[in-house]
Amino acid sequence: MKTKGLLIAAALSAMALAGPVKAEQNISILATGGTIAGSAETQTQAGYTSGQVGVETLLAAVPQLKDLANVSGEQVANVGSQDMSDEIWLQLAARVNELAASRKVDGIVITHGTDTIEETAYFLHLVVDSDKPVVLTAAMRPSTALSADGPLNIYNAVAVAADEDASGRGVLVVVNDDIHGARALTKTNPTDVQTFQSPEHGLIGTSLYGVNTFFRTPYRAHTEDSEFSLKGVKALPRVDVMYMHASFSPDLIDSAVANGARGLVIAGVGNGNMTAAAQEAVRRAVKSGVVVVRSSRVYSGSTGRNVEANDDELGTVASGELNPAKARVLLKLALLKTSDAGEIQELFYQY
Ligand code: ASP
Repeated sequence: MKTKGLLIAAALSAMALAGPVKAEQNISILATGGTIAGSAETQTQAGYTSGQVGVETLLAAVPQLKDLANVSGEQVANVGSQDMSDEIWLQLAARVNELAASRKVDGIVITHGTDTIEETAYFLHLVVDSDKPVVLTAAMRPSTALSADGPLNIYNAVAVAADEDASGRGVLVVVNDDIHGARALTKTNPTDVQTFQSPEHGLIGTSLYGVNTFFRTPYRAHTEDSEFSLKGVKALPRVDVMYMHASFSPDLIDSAVANGARGLVIAGVGNGNMTAAAQEAVRRAVKSGVVVVRSSRVYSGSTGRNVEANDDELGTVASGELNPAKARVLLKLALLKTSDAGEIQELFYQY
């Protein structure tokens, strides 16, 4: 009997060690829309509309959250993330910074669409001035679907946001049991629930039914160590992405410049390459004061400076591991500080 009692005590203490975080943390949930808040007429159809369900309904679907933390919800927007905009980013960043500065808030969870979650996460990674956990989550299946993935993703995201071990790791994205870093993750499949990968750096960790394991911390500057600030910023500069392919029409570059782009990102072929005619258009853009970053349309790897294209001679910036969407985010923030291509290259090495 005594042995049995000891075994039960040992089992209980092991559960306490491995169990979900305690429910004393205050977690704010900011909802922005996406498939996680999407709805369809039936549980089994592929077609649906994003951003239909409000934050209260999202939270009501996960009553188990009360075992993890004290949660409160706010609706910041309710859009499919294909409609994410500079305006919503500025509003969201201001609210996250405000909440993070409050002693009453221990962590923040943001629900978002999967299409542009990597851009929003990286934007916040650079402009949130706090080491408190900021965790984005999403879903591939709408809230009305059979086996909707949103509720468990929200549960795991709250568990990560309430975990002191998550602090100082930058903005995180928790989906399908994985914890990704904002700089590393990318969407790789339009419909698969396991769509997110962090191809160059791997996962930050995992969250299994609210039990978190951390493997690594991001190595580039972010959040508290980031020099980017949105104080007094009312709008972000226009930066357009040019997707390269055989026989690219170079007048698209001239048109972006004529329409007010202050920066361009080339989603180049291979190592950020482009046609000779596109290079001539890039030279014209650079000459007129536009900053041009070369990135790659290839899924993973790094676009290197002066490898095939001669950045020194073109006056361009190499994006390193940042894909075109994320290079665009960093370039928009960099242009708030400088239009000097050399200085912006340094920022690309640092962030
Ligand atoms: N189009 C949706 C969105 O990004 C897709 C999703 O959330 O999975 O809002």
